[in-house]
Amino acid sequence: MRELFAGLGAAGLIILLYYQSSLIPLAILAAFFLLLLRFNGVKTARFSSVGQVPQGKEISFNQIGGQEVAKKELLEALDFVTKPHKIRHMGIRPLKGVMLVGPPGTGKTLLARAAAGYTGSSFVSVAGSEFIEVYAGVGAQRVRQLFDKCRSKAASEQRKNAILFIDEIDILAGKRGQHSSHLEYDQTLNQLLVEMDGLGGNDDLHILVIAATNRPEALDPALLRPGRFDRVVQVDLPDLEGREQILKLHLHNKPVKEGLPLQKIARETFGFSGAHLESLANEAAILAMREGRSEIEEKHLFEAVDKVIMGERLERKPDPEELWRIAVHESGHALVSEALKPGSVSKVTITPRGKALGYVRQQPERDYYIYTVDHLEEQIAVLLGGAVSEKLVLGSRSTGSLSDFNQAVEVAKKIVASGLSSLGVVSIKELPKGLLHRTIQQLIGAQEQSVTNLLSKKIELIKEIAHCVLEKEKISGETLRRHISSYSRAC
Ligand code: ATP
Repeated sequence: MRELFAGLGAAGLIILLYYQSSLIPLAILAAFFLLLLRFNGVKTARFSSVGQVPQGKEISFNQIGGQEVAKKELLEALDFVTKPHKIRHMGIRPLKGVMLVGPPGTGKTLLARAAAGYTGSSFVSVAGSEFIEVYAGVGAQRVRQLFDKCRSKAASEQRKNAILFIDEIDILAGKRGQHSSHLEYDQTLNQLLVEMDGLGGNDDLHILVIAATNRPEALDPALLRPGRFDRVVQVDLPDLEGREQILKLHLHNKPVKEGLPLQKIARETFGFSGAHLESLANEAAILAMREGRSEIEEKHLFEAVDKVIMGERLERKPDPEELWRIAVHESGHALVSEALKPGSVSKVTITPRGKALGYVRQQPERDYYIYTVDHLEEQIAVLLGGAVSEKLVLGSRSTGSLSDFNQAVEVAKKIVASGLSSLGVVSIKELPKGLLHRTIQQLIGAQEQSVTNLLSKKIELIKEIAHCVLEKEKISGETLRRHISSYSRAC
């Protein structure tokens, strides 16, 4: 906006100066400058809000579920703040920065806030995006003001320590020279480095900078140089036990029916972050309230899992023919999943949610961190089960399989990239496109063939399950398995 005004002002003045030589152009020039200054003034006023002290209660490490390793590492680093005499006695140089690295919503902000509570420090927090301006120098000035703010806040609260939390530090401290307006970015980062280098000289106040990022690869190496962010703490997605703990924490203030199977929910939520689990607990409470219940029950939690994964239930009503096709499609996915990994299906439904018209929810028997080629091929097979089932029962496929195919291609690419395909170890980037395409086709084609062999013997079972899903809208994994075993007994 400011650039637009500047441009318009300059253009107007040139025209006016050209046609008449009076004082009017000068008056207009002054007016434009005043306008520009006003805009900068507004920015400067907003500037004072950089480094907000977050509202809300102090939090403790006990309110953070899972993350035991991250907590332990951070607590060790906090010894520098809580035991300064010991650190000085040992001749250890003061710790200036801790970098928390991990996916969004895993509790990095919570850890920083808990660190402030634990050490009795003043706490100032800011997001990297608040520093970046088009005008060179503004971000750097903000960095200076932020550190000053930390000092003055600690002084006013009569504390000896302050924690400055910088979220999304990759925005402020990306590799230098990479941005189009790189002068501004570079000056902002340089100022941060200067401020951090200056820390530690003043015995009256210790400022610890805790930064968070989910893109560590984007950071300028100078930032992680010894003497700046000396500690890098990994804050990963929670494991099974962590997920159960986080669920308990977020259900703590809610009325829940006794004996909820939290471990089962935790098993079905592999890949959920703490933020997802908080949302799950919240959605379950909303669902219970909508139904007029006074307590959260098991079904509310399971429905909330669907909502967090797939989105809100839609009012879309496909016609009966389409609904039959969807039921056949989902039954195909479910049968392949059960055939390859018995007990793996948790639910089959034709309730539309988000972009899906129906879906099968699987329950992994454990958390997986690496996959074998068999496991990946099984994933492809389950993804193809829907389309193959449509073809076998209805004689044709539909566009309903588009997202399944996209996912199957991604899994096949993973097989190639991991050196698990017939090509051996290759660089997927260097591979001729045609060869990559053919290898993906072969991988998917082989699975399509084996899924067709599997399901062509179960056409009546597909129809039976599809009828059941159609009638009840959703069936549990247990109901599915009952149908499968009575069908096998009958055959
Ligand atoms: P981002 O990278 O997006 O800034 P973050 O890692 O800083 O995310 P937080 O802001 O700390 O994540 O977490 C968001 C919310 O998710 C928290 O307010 C809390 O409700 C919940 N949450 C996340 N992780 C945990 C956890 N380990 N234990 C309990 N609650 C958690």
